[in-house]
Amino acid sequence: MAKIDHIGIAVKSLAGAKSIYEKLGLTPSPEETVEQEQVRVVMVPVGESRLELLEATSENSAIAKFIAKRGEGLHHVCLRVPDLPAAVERLKKDGVRLVSEEIKTGAGGHKYVFVHPASSGGVLLELVQE
Ligand code: ZN
Repeated sequence: MAKIDHIGIAVKSLAGAKSIYEKLGLTPSPEETVEQEQVRVVMVPVGESRLELLEATSENSAIAKFIAKRGEGLHHVCLRVPDLPAAVERLKKDGVRLVSEEIKTGAGGHKYVFVHPASSGGVLLELVQE
């Protein structure tokens, strides 16, 4: 069954954004750079899920463009699914619009794909393999 893996939040500054969570007694992870997506990331574990704070490392980053257009805020919701290739296959068959046609491999070796907001109620949806 799918679970919420994390919720992605676009921020201008990781240092500034993570302090509210520290004040709430949560423990943000060390900052990590994801070259492929041109972002620096902090994960904040919250119960079974996590908040993913995303700061752009380049003006060409999707996060920089998002903030320029819409300001800081909720960027995407990520669901962890048991069988990602099967899920992607099903979505494609049903004509769901994906941001990229192929499943990508992230820094930690995890597999992921993004569903375009046009196909998911205006919210960018990330799917990762369990
Ligand atoms: Zn994410």
